[in-house]
Amino acid sequence: MNENLHERAQRLLAESVVEGLRPADEIWLREHLAECTGCGLQAAATQNVLHALRTVPVNVPRDLAARTQLRVRLRAQETSTAGSGSFWLWAVTAASWLLGVFSAPLVWRGFAWLGSNFGVPKLALELGFVMWWAVPALVAVAAVLHQRALSTGAKGI
Ligand SMILES: [Zn+2]
Repeated sequence: MNENLHERAQRLLAESVVEGLRPADEIWLREHLAECTGCGLQAAATQNVLHALRTVPVNVPRDLAARTQLRVRLRAQETSTAGSGSFWLWAVTAASWLLGVFSAPLVWRGFAWLGSNFGVPKLALELGFVMWWAVPALVAVAAVLHQRALSTGAKGI
């Protein structure tokens, strides 16, 4: 029971950052964060990382994360008729998105180091950085499709 509440909170937290929430979800999330220390800490950590990320001097397309997530979701709808796979979809999507957000400042520092030490053109660095962001979502799609193929195979036997 509690597990599901926290999962919902994590999912809404990710959504609130990317595309905003419906008012009812926003109220629910605020109430949960107020009474749940674990999710509250995670929300604060996410805000800190996002703040750090905003100070990074690179123009990542603002809607990149939203577009990537939308693509993952559309792909999931194409391949899903029953709702059984939705838990995995959300888990993998949220994990990949958070991984992207949390690793972005480190990765950007790595790219900056490459640029200053080897004279890599800025455009190549920015493209590499954007790719780093997009790749986890693509991996997530592959993982979901793989999971689906496995479960379909199991039903066939
Ligand atoms: Zn919680």
